[in-house]
Amino acid sequence: MSYLDYNATAPIRPEAAAAVIEAMQSVGNASSMHQPGRQAAHRVDLARRQLAGLLNCSPGEIIFTSGATEANNLALRSAYTPGNSLVTSPAEHPAVLETARMVTAERPEDLVLLQVGSDGLVDLNALEQVFVTRSGGVVSLMGANNETGVLTDLRVVAKAVREAGALIHTDATQIVGRLPVDVAELDVDLLSLSAHKFGGPQGVGALYVRRGTPLPHRPLLVGGGQERGWRAGTLNVAGIIGLGAAADAARRNLGEEAERVAALRDRLERLLTLALPDCRLNGRRDQRLPGVTSITFPGVPADAVLAAMPDVAASEGSACASGAPTPSHVLLAMGLSREAADSTIRFSLGYATTDAEIEHAAQAVVRAVTQVRSSLAEADG
Ligand code: PLP
Repeated sequence: MSYLDYNATAPIRPEAAAAVIEAMQSVGNASSMHQPGRQAAHRVDLARRQLAGLLNCSPGEIIFTSGATEANNLALRSAYTPGNSLVTSPAEHPAVLETARMVTAERPEDLVLLQVGSDGLVDLNALEQVFVTRSGGVVSLMGANNETGVLTDLRVVAKAVREAGALIHTDATQIVGRLPVDVAELDVDLLSLSAHKFGGPQGVGALYVRRGTPLPHRPLLVGGGQERGWRAGTLNVAGIIGLGAAADAARRNLGEEAERVAALRDRLERLLTLALPDCRLNGRRDQRLPGVTSITFPGVPADAVLAAMPDVAASEGSACASGAPTPSHVLLAMGLSREAADSTIRFSLGYATTDAEIEHAAQAVVRAVTQVRSSLAEADG
């Protein structure tokens, strides 16, 4: 089996799995005052410091959530105020796009969608234009696209919008733990992440809120006042501890892992483009995550190719929660036709991907594409 679907979820890192198992065998609510409770709180504090170490922020700037979806909801519902603009792009993850549409439903004129080029880059030149006539508001652009891996230059974003007094949110789910993310250097106010994309457990994530950010207090969950009132509910102690352990492991190997993974991704692309010269790589190649490639195999439906290679785990565009076969909104925003989008497969590699998996996957993909092509030709003939 070649597991090449790290952008959907990465395998849990051994350090994180061990930490989760150990935590699940201990009792203690992190809000309780007795010794087991204090021990749980102490371990949560350690995880907060571990994540802060990965992001170069202070532990008090982190709010633990159930994942990036919740972090994105919390960020945009708090940062957007009717009458101000909410600027984003049509290539964002639905957790941002749907939240943006929902919060601006009564004032759709507040929602500004920047254009995406055929290379997957968001048109950041248009940002300055937006703020010629508007001030304040929030700009939300992802650090790296989950389907193409294309990166957003957040420093350019900060330069364009700081003077207008707008807040900057980034959905950094695909970039955290894969490339260095330094929130101070990036100059963002809010940043969302999910543990399972960098080798932590599923169902836990975080929102970074820069200290001093003028954010109206609009929690999604109210109750016991955990996470400084931003996210009520008993903390997911085991999940948070696993997130911390994964953050720590990712931080220690970041540069090395990124280089190794990029070399494997490049090898996969070389093998596939050599054997199938008509396939097309999507997205700006010199500005993307190390472990992602989005490849269109013209005339060959991606679902048929994936079904013909059950021992390769990859995905059609993004992994959609409902499994509904809708074409990728990201590829359509980049100008691909519906047919081309439906013939596109995303391969995403990560920290545990091996040479053998790449060799095996390349052979399996070539075999599957050739097989699907000939059965389509037979059906036609
Ligand atoms: N944002 C991006 C860019 C993603 O890739 C994902 C997951 O695919 C999410 C947000 C949502 O993460 P989660 O489902 O862990 O909340």
